[in-house]
Amino acid sequence: MAAIDGLPPLREVIATHELVAKKALGQNFLLDLNLTAKIARAAGDLTGCDVLEVGPGPGGLTRGLLAEGARRVLAVEKDSRCLPALAEIAAHYPGRLEVINGDALAVDVLAHLTPPIRIAANLPYNVGTELLIRWLTPAVWPPFWQSLTLMFQKEVAERIVAKPGSDHYGRLALLAQWRAEAKIVMVLPPEAFTPAPKVHSAVVHLTALPAPRYPADLAVLERVVAAGFNQRRKMLRSSLKGVHPRIEALLEEAGIPPTERAERVSLEQFCHLARLVAAG
Ligand code: SAM
Repeated sequence: MAAIDGLPPLREVIATHELVAKKALGQNFLLDLNLTAKIARAAGDLTGCDVLEVGPGPGGLTRGLLAEGARRVLAVEKDSRCLPALAEIAAHYPGRLEVINGDALAVDVLAHLTPPIRIAANLPYNVGTELLIRWLTPAVWPPFWQSLTLMFQKEVAERIVAKPGSDHYGRLALLAQWRAEAKIVMVLPPEAFTPAPKVHSAVVHLTALPAPRYPADLAVLERVVAAGFNQRRKMLRSSLKGVHPRIEALLEEAGIPPTERAERVSLEQFCHLARLVAAG
C-alpha cells in the first residue's frame, strides 16, 4: 500500500495500540489509506477549510483529510483507547489536528471551529442518522457547515438520495433534499472494513444550499411529512387527518390528489402543503 504520509500503516497502528474493534461503538475501521484519501477528496477542496470529523478511530480518514490539505481537523472520538494513535498523527501535522475525547452527540464543536467548515466522517452506524438530522435541522439556515461527506450503511444512503415513487423515499430524503444537494459518491463492499460489517456501505456528499429549495416552516414541514409517512400505505386524506381540520381542501389546493400516498408526493408539493397548513 502506498503511504500517503510518513506514518506507520494502519494495521501496525492497530496492533501497537491494541485497538480491538468494539461492536458497541460501531467500530468498523478503514485500513486502506488510498481509500481514505479518496473519501477525503470526495469532500471537495479542503485547503483553507476546517474539517469536523466524528469518530476518527485509529485515524485512517483523519490522515486522508490532512494529507489532502485540510487547514485543520477537529476530531471527536468517544473511545479513549484511540487517543495515543491520534496523538501520533497530531505530532506529524503540528497545529493541524485537535482531538476531543467525547460523545459527538454531546460535544459543542462550534467553539473549536473556524469557517469555512466541512464535515467528513465514517460514522458510527448507531449515531449516524441522528447526527445527520441534527446537521440538517439547525434553527437558522445556512448552517455552520458547507458540506457533509458521510459514510452510511448503503440502505441509509439510498434513503437520503431517494426520489418520489421509490421504496426508500421518506422523511430523510425530504429533509436532506430540501436544504441540500445530496448524492451518493462511492459504494463500498463489506471487505473494505475491518472487521467487515454485514452490509454494503456508501459515502453520501451533501452540499448545503444557500436557502431551502422551497419556502416552508421546518416544524410544520416535519409534522406533515412525519404524519404522511407514519402510515405510508394510506391515502393522505386519512394519514394527514390530524394535521389540519380541512386537510382535503388543502391537499387539493396544493395540487395533491387527496387519494395520493405520501411516497408519490414531491418535495415541492410537501412544501406547498406545509405553507397552507401553517397559514391555518
Ligand atoms: N473513522 C475511522 C475509520 O474510518 O476507520 C473509524 C470509523 S468507525 C465506523 C466509527 C468510530 O466512531 C469509532 O472509532 C468509534 O469509537 C467512534 N464513535 C462511536 N460512537 C461515537 C460517538 N457517539 N461520538 C464520537 N465517536 C464515536
